[in-house]
Amino acid sequence: MRYLVTGVCGFIGSHLAEYLLKQGHEVHGIDNLSSGKMENLDIAKLRLFVAADCQNWPAVVRAAVGCDYVFHAASTVGVQKVLRNPSHCIENILDSTRGVLKLGIPGMYFSTSEVYGKVGTGALREDSVLAYSSAPRWSYAAAKLAGEWLALAEKWNVVRLFNVVGPRQCSDYGAVLPRFVKQALADEPIAVYGDGSQVRTFTSVHDVVRILHTMSQKKFEIVNVGSTNTYSILELSEQVYRLVDTDSPTKFVPYDKAYPEGFDECPSRIPDLSRLHRLIGVQTYLSLKQPNYRDWE
Ligand code: UDP
Repeated sequence: MRYLVTGVCGFIGSHLAEYLLKQGHEVHGIDNLSSGKMENLDIAKLRLFVAADCQNWPAVVRAAVGCDYVFHAASTVGVQKVLRNPSHCIENILDSTRGVLKLGIPGMYFSTSEVYGKVGTGALREDSVLAYSSAPRWSYAAAKLAGEWLALAEKWNVVRLFNVVGPRQCSDYGAVLPRFVKQALADEPIAVYGDGSQVRTFTSVHDVVRILHTMSQKKFEIVNVGSTNTYSILELSEQVYRLVDTDSPTKFVPYDKAYPEGFDECPSRIPDLSRLHRLIGVQTYLSLKQPNYRDWE
């Protein structure tokens, strides 16, 4: 198979490209290098790389030549970046999705657990009610959700990714685990926002790319992709201390000091994985209790 991976120099895109190459496939990639980095993967191993934005239609067409399937991973990344310019985030997500869908090639749209908004504390089913406030944080979720509808109209698969973690994840745009690891390695206090009681599940990118490749061979509409590795953010910080073996203390930072205006917290985000497991079988996941975070730099 020949795949096009958009956002190929990003955290998930680069791991996915490497996985596909290891499985013996050909990979084309496109990336505007706004948050992705060339050093995230060995570009020379790609059959074709186009350094351009997915809003650039001729470049998208060039990148997709001869491709059988598209993984549309390219997106604006991170709560901090979204809050700095919500309308740019919305336009970028929608315009690039429309462009990639126009190719008329089957594919997978990378949506996000953000689309559930602030809904409840239980496991989130794909048909859960969405609950937003008007805080600008949710502009990203609203745009990703609109992208889902565009993708569904073209009969694409839609995956909602819950907090993915692993080597090469950039700490610059807010993602919690690389930030904690960076702070701990520098013997700086680990900055827990709020009181640390907010809950997330964290899934290794190595599991995620394997799962996404298997899913690409199936037909479905919307499916959650995540794991049951559930942590409060305070527990996560404690785990990082232990594994990095640092004495740096926890520092609690109020949300209004941590984020620009327009932030709104999501107290709990846990996926219901029954659809995923019905589609590709019950998965076993890498534990995040043993990684050597020192190798994550
Ligand atoms: N968070 C934190 N310290 C940080 C970065 C994030 O305590 O340095 C918190 C953040 O407020 C949120 C959780 O960790 O409650 C996960 O944040 P992230 O941005 O990684 O993902 P999301 O909120 O989109 O799930």
